[in-house]
Amino acid sequence: MSQHGATSTTIADPFRFAADGRHIDAEVEVAKLERLADSLADTAGVLRFSVEGSLDEERRPRLRLVVGGSLTLRCQRCLGGLQWPVDIEVLLQPVREGEEIPDEELEDDEVDALEVGSDLDVIGLVEEEVLLALPIAPRHDDCQPPRPDGGVQKESPFAGLAALRVGKKA
Ligand SMILES: [Zn+2]
Repeated sequence: MSQHGATSTTIADPFRFAADGRHIDAEVEVAKLERLADSLADTAGVLRFSVEGSLDEERRPRLRLVVGGSLTLRCQRCLGGLQWPVDIEVLLQPVREGEEIPDEELEDDEVDALEVGSDLDVIGLVEEEVLLALPIAPRHDDCQPPRPDGGVQKESPFAGLAALRVGKKA
């Protein structure tokens, strides 16, 4: 990972980062998130993200990750582009690699454990959280798929609904 001052996206010591109450604000080009590429119809644009370090009332390290922006997913029906607003906020507890986390610490399901080595790759973390949040089968709300060849008339249970929606919009 290169160090570009303000655009540095590696946290060298996430535990100290949390203890010092530090904060990162940055953005990443969507095209650089290679693991997302398969889910996208278009890789233009950027995602903004921030990481805010803190200690909770029991002085446990906390990292709050916020990711925002928009991705162009591929509609599973018509395969066209589908804008999906990214609005992710997660609270993470960094734990050292191989370290056991006492169950009671994770009973609080507002916090997810995050295993880290020495460095935390923030871009990798952003990508991971976006992948977790992606809808499984994204579709346009009012998608009009092209009629399949062969013209088998099989009424979809949603056909009537789709017609209603079109009617409303017209
Ligand atoms: Zn569609």
